[in-house]
Amino acid sequence: MIPPSFGYSAPSSLPEALKLLAQHGDEAKILAGGHSLLPMMKFRFAEPGHLIDLNRVDELKGIREEGGLIVIGAMTSESDLIASKLLTQKLPLLAETALQIADPQVRNRGTIGGDIAHGDPGNDHPAIMLVLDATFVLSGPKGERSVPASKFFHGTYMTDLQASEILKEIRIQPFAAKTGYAYCKLKRKTGDWASAAAAVVLTMSGDKVSTLRIALTNLAATAIRAEAAEADLQGRPLSDANIDAAAKAAMAICDPAADLRGDVEYKTAMAGEMVKRAIRLAATRCR
Ligand SMILES: Cc1cc2nc3c(=O)[nH]c(=O)nc-3n(C[C@H](O)[C@H](O)[C@H](O)COP(=O)(O)OP(=O)(O)OC[C@H]3O[C@@H](n4cnc5c(N)ncnc54)[C@H](O)[C@@H]3O)c2cc1C
Repeated sequence: MIPPSFGYSAPSSLPEALKLLAQHGDEAKILAGGHSLLPMMKFRFAEPGHLIDLNRVDELKGIREEGGLIVIGAMTSESDLIASKLLTQKLPLLAETALQIADPQVRNRGTIGGDIAHGDPGNDHPAIMLVLDATFVLSGPKGERSVPASKFFHGTYMTDLQASEILKEIRIQPFAAKTGYAYCKLKRKTGDWASAAAAVVLTMSGDKVSTLRIALTNLAATAIRAEAAEADLQGRPLSDANIDAAAKAAMAICDPAADLRGDVEYKTAMAGEMVKRAIRLAATRCR
């Protein structure tokens, strides 16, 4: 399918991009890697009158350490996340997750900012952002505001981003020593979105769970945090019975859409399985 015609601008700075966004109003859409937006335009689910391409805005690219935080520009590609030595050392969960997204072609163009801003419950970064307790910096006509990941995802394709705003960067606390982590993703084939996936970040105190965050991908209208499952394990040893109880609590909050990846019952059962695997893998990495 061919999309309807549209205007196109390629600004070279963030202020210029914001000015164009203000000029074109609701007609405009940001273009990042284009791997979600262009398919939607081809199917005519999205018909923007004007695209503002951020690919020449260098200040939105790259990964750095600043004030004790890891700061990732919204236009950083999945491939750059995978290749980053800083992430491998300080937030290996992010690089490991990026490697599970789509295929090399998509990862070379697709950006972390686009993956988050799109608001697709099937995308992998939103659950990772929830377990990492990330903060999103949004730039708009009145300046910048920071939104925690926990308040950003409102519904399928709905986020806290206003039409006049651009996701500028993502700020995340690096892992403390001996933090365990895992992202377990069940997919039908290489390059597919998750049938069910679970992200876990874990620390232990002796043989008991000290801190734990669990989030799920493609199992509800947005990525969701499994807080009851976390509570089930807090302060307890990681016995099979305790892990099973946490998996059941996670399954209880699943509300997936049935599609070619499976029916509701199958996806919910797989969510439980992914939670168990992610907790066990994370635990091996705490040591
Ligand atoms: C075959 C295929 C398989 C895929 N599999 C997966 C997968 O397994 N897991 C996964 O997570 N994703 C997957 N994707 C999606 C891919 O990761 C996309 O690249 C991603 O969803 C969007 O990123 P993008 O940079 O391409 O954004 P675009 O498609 O350019 O934009 C997406 C949306 O976000 C908005 N936007 C983008 N950047 C900004 C910004 N900085 N500020 C404000 N708004 C912005 C755009 O206006 C648009 O509405 C797949 C895509 C394809 C084509």
